[in-house]
Amino acid sequence: MSYVQIEHLSKTFHGQHVLQQLDLAIEKGELVTLLGPSGCGKSTLLRILSGLTAPDTGMIYIDGKDVTDVSPKNRQIGMVFQSYALFPNLTVSQNIAFGLEMNKISKTEIRLRVQEMIELVGLVGKEQAYPRELSGGQQQRVALARSLVTRPKVLLLDEPLSALDAQIRKNLQKQLRTIQRELNMTTVLVTHDQEEAMAVSDRIYIMNGGRIVQHGSPQEIYTQPRSEFVARFIGNYN
Ligand code: ADP
Ligand code: MG
Repeated sequence: MSYVQIEHLSKTFHGQHVLQQLDLAIEKGELVTLLGPSGCGKSTLLRILSGLTAPDTGMIYIDGKDVTDVSPKNRQIGMVFQSYALFPNLTVSQNIAFGLEMNKISKTEIRLRVQEMIELVGLVGKEQAYPRELSGGQQQRVALARSLVTRPKVLLLDEPLSALDAQIRKNLQKQLRTIQRELNMTTVLVTHDQEEAMAVSDRIYIMNGGRIVQHGSPQEIYTQPRSEFVARFIGNYN
């Protein structure tokens, strides 16, 4: 069994088949990207993986355990969204510590872990800053630190870089990949940006209309597209 395994997952909203019989398998330490056009069901799949949305049918296993009916806070998942969603009245350190304070961890341990994360994401010197004093890229690094500090089994990223300028986005793609490798963090990234998917992924799942139409390494998908849809979608990248 793979570290994250999704079997026969389906979801309908008001009679619309948003996800249809999806199967995915993700190995420990892999960065897998869900790539597809707007509305194809990427965010819904991520929300189901996190436990925020319940599937109609299907099973989800993480680290060998059936988590299909496990609540979000007991799934050991970290999540980062496109919008930063930091607490505006808390400092960088306080934002990162927030997830730990609800977990009955000692003050000393919290301080150590927060500092470790601040170093990891390159925000040394910004500990006491407030979100409004940070750039968009810095805010997303705080959001990343806040989700990693709880040491999740799986990191879920829903278009975390989409709101950023092109150059900042490229830099953050590299940083994200470096951090992900350093922690050997099993990661699922959602994006509609084929260039981003090509740049950072171990493997890519291409979605269209609630189905997975192809999966494989970036090279496999680029050199052996199995349908005109994939060829056209990926062909935009060069
Ligand atoms: P993506 O992230 O790939 O852009 P989404 O997963 O957000 O796609 O949405 C897939 C489809 O499901 C869209 O047609 C969207 O309108 C619909 N949808 C998503 N969430 C809901 C919801 N809570 N209620 C009704 N329809 C939804
Ligand atoms: Mg989405």
